[in-house]
Amino acid sequence: MKEFLLDKKIALITGGNGGIGFGIAEGLSKNGATVIIAGRNQSKNDIALKELRKLNKKNDSITLDVNNQSSITECVNYVSKKFGRIDILVNNAGINRRSEEPHLLSKMDWKEVMDTNLNSIHDITSKIFPIMKKNKSGKIINIGSMMSIFGTAYAAAYAASKGGVVQYTKSCAVAWAKYNVQVNTILPGWIVTEMTNDFKDKFPERYAMIVDRTPADRWGLPKDLAGTAIFLSSNLSDFVTGVSIPVDGGYSVW
Ligand code: NDP
Repeated sequence: MKEFLLDKKIALITGGNGGIGFGIAEGLSKNGATVIIAGRNQSKNDIALKELRKLNKKNDSITLDVNNQSSITECVNYVSKKFGRIDILVNNAGINRRSEEPHLLSKMDWKEVMDTNLNSIHDITSKIFPIMKKNKSGKIINIGSMMSIFGTAYAAAYAASKGGVVQYTKSCAVAWAKYNVQVNTILPGWIVTEMTNDFKDKFPERYAMIVDRTPADRWGLPKDLAGTAIFLSSNLSDFVTGVSIPVDGGYSVW
């Protein structure tokens, strides 16, 4: 029987029912992993799972609100009880709230972005790391952004949260390398998903500037993220930890 890179691996992907998370879910599943997607919207989860089950009948989904502590506990208990382990955690769930300038962003929007994009990563990771430590192996992949590197006038909370993701990743990497748990960040460039699909109409000049600045001369697709996620999920990356890998068609190079 053909062997795959991620055979027998169990992967939990927060969000995962669309966009980048789904692109990663497909990639991991095609390479042998059993994937559990965990978004808030169960009907989106159902539609995504139908596709993922075509790749592996054991793929699964669970409703998760990353901002709700008991929902996180239920999710982690469900996956560890049903599958016996969690080898790969992809902290992908994220939102953006825009304002024309930083001081115009409401406190509520600021809090929601920080909770979803940064605080929840700590909450989920803290529950899953002990499982990985016990198994003496684990891969944690956090999803950052170009805004982990650059600032932006119209998404200050988003940039602050994504900058925090990179620093949090490094701290976990330093702490857990001795347990054979690697923690890394992927920095997607500009990717066509639900989060950005209003961009072309709302900000046509900026949309064109992005294509102009991207050496690959296009926006990315969710499947563009899969290769790096597969590498960071596999034993091929066992000596890689604490890094942030841009997957951006060259946007951040110059
Ligand atoms: P989508 O809007 O398509 O996906 C966002 C995902 O996050 C959905 O699966 C959504 O699930 C989930 N989510 C949001 N809030 C919660 C919550 N409270 N609990 C559980 N799940 C939640 O956007 P993308 O695919 O673009 O975004 C995925 C990640 O990639 C995000 O972290 C984003 O910041 C990052 N990113 C995106 C870029 C882009 O250009 N698109 C660029 C750089 C980074 P549900 O719908 O069920 O709530």
